[in-house]
Amino acid sequence: MSVYDTIIIGGGIMGCSTALHLARAAPRMKIALLERGLCGAQASGVNFGNVRSNGRPVSQMPLSLRSREIWSRITELLGVDCEYERTGALKIAFRDEDLAVLEGHVRDARDGFGLAVEMLGSAGLRQLFPWIASGAVGARHSLDDGVANPRLVAAAFGAATRRHGVDVRENFAVASVSHSGAAFSVVGEGGAALVARSLVNCAGAWGNLVASSFGEAVPMQALGPQMGVTEPLPFFILPSTSTVNSPIYFRQVRRGNIVFGGGPRAEVRPDLVRHYSLPENTARHAALLRSVAPALKSARVIRAWSGIEGYLPDSLPILGPSATTPGLVHGFGFCGSGFQLGPGVGAVLAELVLGGATTTPIAAFDIRRFAPAAAQETRA
Ligand SMILES: Cc1cc2nc3c(=O)[nH]c(=O)nc-3n(C[C@H](O)[C@H](O)[C@H](O)COP(=O)(O)OP(=O)(O)OC[C@H]3O[C@@H](n4cnc5c(N)ncnc54)[C@H](O)[C@@H]3O)c2cc1C
Repeated sequence: MSVYDTIIIGGGIMGCSTALHLARAAPRMKIALLERGLCGAQASGVNFGNVRSNGRPVSQMPLSLRSREIWSRITELLGVDCEYERTGALKIAFRDEDLAVLEGHVRDARDGFGLAVEMLGSAGLRQLFPWIASGAVGARHSLDDGVANPRLVAAAFGAATRRHGVDVRENFAVASVSHSGAAFSVVGEGGAALVARSLVNCAGAWGNLVASSFGEAVPMQALGPQMGVTEPLPFFILPSTSTVNSPIYFRQVRRGNIVFGGGPRAEVRPDLVRHYSLPENTARHAALLRSVAPALKSARVIRAWSGIEGYLPDSLPILGPSATTPGLVHGFGFCGSGFQLGPGVGAVLAELVLGGATTTPIAAFDIRRFAPAAAQETRA
């Protein structure tokens, strides 16, 4: 039986970032990271690549800002160019009544958190971004937001984790977890058994299986956001772009391809690790793309894909200590916006493992918010 100080379940951006921050803060610690497939092969490696603080709920902003600081030195941290770039981001309104929503976001982000974000009217928008369809009445323009290549980021986190001495076990599917009162016991599908003093649940859309083993299941639903990419075109769209009122977002990579995504999300089979890209969604997104950027009218879609992500009813993640089991901490269910948060989440979870507390406010993400009222009163 292998003995560790900490075991982390899940080799996505959350698990790898946690392992990396832990290993950097406590180099003597014995850490195992267990991943069913390859590090970064699930949501963390297939997402849209938005690295966005703007438009998030106010409760997520401190965590997002902590992450943002780490993103600013991501190449140094991971030793790899992950194509992280502060391209800025646009959220466009095509109806006057949507402007108020954007103005609220700008106030929250600029006045509350000091982000570089501005409102553009239709003339300003047309002047800066002449490729946007006429009919746009204004946009939120956030200069701090950016993008990165998830395929590079997720794998680079895994490699950096290994370089820092973490025992990264890929193709290791955790079959069961338990707590004896003194230690956690983790058993793989192949029968290998590991024990540790603390356990970190970063199992993404499968995180609820781990939580339910400790009597604290949450009402999470797994769904598949829909993605696509066009053939390469001459580069002309710098900001990552979305609209207030239609389910489409897109960005152009420097090589020229337009990466796009949108709703509705498709059903998935987490039990089979299967996700589905629905052709009707791809066709709809291609049409919406042209309605926002008419120059894309003859862009050909060359690939479509999806991924598996966990969504909670209030669209906030589960992040923080277990309510039932000392030594267990959770970081899962990031509701379609965890890529930007990943570096900061790892820093927070590492602090929780090492000292039981974090300097970043995370009360809004407490797992107890889904516990029955009676149980909450007992614990209060
Ligand atoms: C298509 C798509 C587009 C998205 N776009 C964006 C975006 O543009 N910006 C943004 O901020 N966020 C985006 N997101 C969300 C973001 O990708 C996720 O929130 C984030 O990657 C979650 O990271 P994670 O580490 O929690 O999960 P994952 O990357 O899914 O990692 C969890 C890992 O746990 C492993 N695991 C699970 N159970 C077990 C087990 N029993 N044993 C061993 N290993 C196990 C899995 O194999 C998996 O690799 C998107 C998500 C998707 C799917």
